[in-house]
Amino acid sequence: MFKRQTLIAWLTLVAISVMPFTALAQTQIKYHSNKYSVQDDIKLGRQAAQEAESQFPLLRDQEVQSYVENVGRRLVTSIPQEFQHPEFQYYFKVVNARDINAFALPGGPMYVNRGMIEAARTEGEMAGVMAHEISHVALRHGTAQASKGQKYSILGGIAGIAGTILGGPGVGQLAQAPFAVYLLKFSREYETEADILGAQIMARAGYDPRDLANMFQTIERQGGGGGGFLSDHPSASDRYARINQEAQYLRVNTSANRDSREFARVKERLRGYGTAPTMADIQRSGQRYPTGEQTGNYPDNAPAGRVSYPSGRYQSVSIFNGGVNVSVPSNWRQVSEGNSVWFVPEGAYGQYNGQAVYTHGVSFGVGQTNSRNLQSATQELINNFAQGNNNLRTSGGYQRSTLDGRTALWTTLTNVNEATGRPETIRLITTQLRNGSVFYMVAVAPQNERGFDTAFNQVLQSIRIND
Ligand SMILES: [Zn+2]
Repeated sequence: MFKRQTLIAWLTLVAISVMPFTALAQTQIKYHSNKYSVQDDIKLGRQAAQEAESQFPLLRDQEVQSYVENVGRRLVTSIPQEFQHPEFQYYFKVVNARDINAFALPGGPMYVNRGMIEAARTEGEMAGVMAHEISHVALRHGTAQASKGQKYSILGGIAGIAGTILGGPGVGQLAQAPFAVYLLKFSREYETEADILGAQIMARAGYDPRDLANMFQTIERQGGGGGGFLSDHPSASDRYARINQEAQYLRVNTSANRDSREFARVKERLRGYGTAPTMADIQRSGQRYPTGEQTGNYPDNAPAGRVSYPSGRYQSVSIFNGGVNVSVPSNWRQVSEGNSVWFVPEGAYGQYNGQAVYTHGVSFGVGQTNSRNLQSATQELINNFAQGNNNLRTSGGYQRSTLDGRTALWTTLTNVNEATGRPETIRLITTQLRNGSVFYMVAVAPQNERGFDTAFNQVLQSIRIND
């Protein structure tokens, strides 16, 4: 009895002494545990950025571009010390799309839709969206979420980008999720953190953090939209309330006064371009855009060459938004490239001449074809592959086989790996999907290196197609 009363008295005392401080201070945000390195964030982001830029038309307007960059720069320099990563390379590009959205990739690349700038009523509202996205990057949310059990979610998220935007109409039923899938993947907790840190960054940069909250109302007034940015968890009204609550404890850095005339000028300029296409229009058109100079400047990072043997433990993975399930050795990583997904061991992939190259591993993809016949469809696919690989040759003919109970064709090809200069063997297996497109698996290893054969077979046997 005595003990319990003492405890209650003690608890009350603690509550009284702690309350005033916590209630009056801005919310402290901490990193989540993360199994990935900062370098992984950078690598993943670059890869996804390259994909994004080949899929989205960038607005080539120097004035608009440098204005958005300036706002972005101001926000980045206002990231609190503990969340600054000097290695990250933040940059900002305007996408000529109507949807009110923006997205940022691990390590810093950010894409702001023209529709978002047009919808914002003030520079602060625009900066709010950008500050929120910058916060996801600074807090390393992408890889932190991937570290939590679902090993493949970040890579899956990027594959989502690759699979949906890149897929274009050819991927058909297998990949219908909107592009926003990448941002929608963040949990409620992460969204709230990005709102709070975003509000803190805004105040430090001289913006009223309430403008971030106001942007939710602006988006809703314009018919919802928002896509990835205005995720439905937490709800817009919860986010509005939470940001305004945080804003009470933030002092806006008034020394950094904003000039609203510049924002008005940029909006005026955008009006001159007429109506932008929607993301859906862009996806439907399936057009590919030349990638920006940003990606071309990256130093080559050829495959390291030291490749570990496939683990005997397998991990089940769902790809193409659940259209295909497959088991892969647990030490292989998922990497997206174009409209295909690769599973590769460490050291077996890299960049060469601005192109992704792979020395060992498997890749899956779906290609659209005009042929109804599997053999001519496969030939079409090989011709496609040959366009990017001058040394690719078929060796032997087609062999009939089965893949998940369907009729399939086996073809063996030889190639000389661009990055290593070594001859390699490529095994290709194809089957037709119900909608007529061709699903394929490619297995690559250096010639005469048989250590991967068992793994390749296991992967092949595990494929389940749900079309
Ligand atoms: Zn978010």
